[in-house]
Amino acid sequence: MTVVVQKFGGTSVGTIERIKAVAKKVIERKEQGNDMVVVLSAMGKTTDELITMAKEISPNPNKRELDMLVATGEQISIALLSIALHEYGYDSISLTGFQAGIKTNGLHTKNQITDIDLKNVKKHLGEGRIVVVAGFQGINEKGDITTLGRGGSDTTAVALAAKLECICEIYTDVEGIYSADPRICPKAKKLDAISYEEMMEMASLGAGVMETRAVELGYKYNIPIYVGMTHGDKKGTMIKEYDETMEGRVITGLTTNDDVLMITVNNVEYKSKNIAVIFDKIAKHSINIDMISQTAPFEGYVNISFTCSTDDSYSVEMAAKELQIDMPEIEVSRESNITKLSVVGIGMMKQFGVAAKVFNIFADNNIEFKQVTTSEISISYTINSSDKQKAVNALAVALDLQVN
Ligand code: ASP
Ligand code: MG
Repeated sequence: MTVVVQKFGGTSVGTIERIKAVAKKVIERKEQGNDMVVVLSAMGKTTDELITMAKEISPNPNKRELDMLVATGEQISIALLSIALHEYGYDSISLTGFQAGIKTNGLHTKNQITDIDLKNVKKHLGEGRIVVVAGFQGINEKGDITTLGRGGSDTTAVALAAKLECICEIYTDVEGIYSADPRICPKAKKLDAISYEEMMEMASLGAGVMETRAVELGYKYNIPIYVGMTHGDKKGTMIKEYDETMEGRVITGLTTNDDVLMITVNNVEYKSKNIAVIFDKIAKHSINIDMISQTAPFEGYVNISFTCSTDDSYSVEMAAKELQIDMPEIEVSRESNITKLSVVGIGMMKQFGVAAKVFNIFADNNIEFKQVTTSEISISYTINSSDKQKAVNALAVALDLQVN
């Protein structure tokens, strides 16, 4: 028998009716002759609600207890699904992360899976049961319940598939992976296939359909991941190794991210020591820098800009205050209406001129960009958020990212 891991997200198990529908979908796959392992998220917005409750008691809830609390969300959904499977005449068992042998380490609320002891899962599969596993949770060496960070059920599913050496199917409320976010590019193409590398870039650049860590795991263990809709039978997207079917296209997708704070430090005397002082200060405040740019020296002075997440606003404020004491002549300014726009495509490795093409499109449409960075398979630009829609429209047409 082949094993299949199926994962269903929070919306897919958001109501009792939907849980019943998921049970039927699982049964269908089981009836095709597969051993089934099902991983679930918590119902609907349960995780958010649990966190809200904790925050009503404490602005900074004890992290071990927070893990204990939020892990209950998945226990509700797995038990309900297993009850539904029994009701439809199928033997099934729900297992917490601990019962499924999912071992973790790290900090509470941000754990990583270190290993999975499959003994229990295999025993139940061997006895013909459908095994329903709580996503997002595990157990640490102290025996405490842990969680994997928001969206962590995808990781649970892919890690189980990696260990079981089988395919992983992720079911959600979208049809699959698109060339661009359909909310800003309504005619975006749904992709039949995308390489792990492209998906990792798109996920970390803000495509948001799948957790980046889960895609990384799939890549590492070469586990094909199918992403599709829970309800209906539209074909989804396969995330897999790069192959010749993908070779024809240069650009696979476009992503935008509005969570960008751009900090500019003006009037920095041009000495490498000064640059080091600035970035040391930023590092000391644990600010995660994304893009960096520096103007050419003019009369012995340069301006430096960098971007980070708006979550780091407070730390930036602190770092700026301290810097101003060490270097009184500098001026620090912040801009938050900035969007990072990226084009991604593994075909870029072999193709020249993508950056030039984008620069031309920006020029033709009067779009100013502030910074550019590149990786082997992506190019990112920061632009004013007010130009975002215009830029997306123009690029989607020029780079063939839309259906006609
Ligand atoms: N329930 C968790 C969350 O909302 C994990 C998940 O859904 O993947 O983040
Ligand atoms: Mg999710």
